[in-house]
Amino acid sequence: MQRVAILSAILLGGVAVTGAVAQGIPGIENIEQVGENLYRIPGAGGNTIVFVRSDDVVLVDTKVAGQGEALMEQVRSVTDKPIAMVINTHSHPDHVGSNAFFRENHAVQVVAQANTAARMQAEGGQFPANPVDTEFTTYRQIGEGEDRIELYWFGAGHTDGDAFVMFPENKTMVAGDIYAWHMSPLIDPGSGGSMLALPTTVTAAYYNIPEAETVISGHGGVHTREEFLSWVTFNRGLVQIAEETAQRGGTPEEALARLEAVPSWAVFMGDEPLPGLEYGGTPRGRAYINLMVAFEELMGEEPQLRMGIATSEIPARQN
Ligand SMILES: [Zn+2]
Repeated sequence: MQRVAILSAILLGGVAVTGAVAQGIPGIENIEQVGENLYRIPGAGGNTIVFVRSDDVVLVDTKVAGQGEALMEQVRSVTDKPIAMVINTHSHPDHVGSNAFFRENHAVQVVAQANTAARMQAEGGQFPANPVDTEFTTYRQIGEGEDRIELYWFGAGHTDGDAFVMFPENKTMVAGDIYAWHMSPLIDPGSGGSMLALPTTVTAAYYNIPEAETVISGHGGVHTREEFLSWVTFNRGLVQIAEETAQRGGTPEEALARLEAVPSWAVFMGDEPLPGLEYGGTPRGRAYINLMVAFEELMGEEPQLRMGIATSEIPARQN
């Protein structure tokens, strides 16, 4: 339950984030190469992506607050080029937390999807306001040739502003938290997230970005296009099973039993927390949470934000 408390502090406290790091969020890790000029820095919040262009550097996401210096130390181990731009995948403070450092010290342009930009810039909200310089709605291309970046938005999921960031020369797509830890994702209804909308959104990402051979998750590792497709299929199945079960008056518990009867989905139904997992719970716990969220949405009830779930509240396996 401690993990649950920590991430709640990140998501809901905003300002309490630096303290949360001290309390046990995994620290920043060493930069690793993902493509020819593309790198990932794990830890201290969501993955930060480093794209080294001809003349400068673009970052995707900036972790929790207070990580600017540590991020720069990692970036400087691979390039001396100036930091020109920060792209944010969505509005959560474990992805935009150190934006201020790069605005103040590197005069970066901050780019975000319009719904995310509105949430980031809202004054007096749950999180400190965070300026955005450039917004896009459904698509935007940044740069040319080998420096090209493509930004896509296909609808709601984790939030209502989840951007997919494509690096065509590296055949690699950055998915943000709609795809985290290769399990069903956290749904944040307070930020416009929706489990019922998610399958359409991620299916669109799969088919509209066919050149993405590698997919980097918002937290956790780097996956193949095939792994991403099997995850898309699992989430489609989760919602379909929720719909069918709800329609005949069944429960999320029954839906969970049906979901785990599909052998090929066992990888998304594990009982162990995944490495670096700050959002409390296990893949199976998250699947059960998302069945409950889907049921709430189907019943027209207000879906709840559930950071995690105690093991004792997850129904026992049927088989
Ligand atoms: Zn998030």
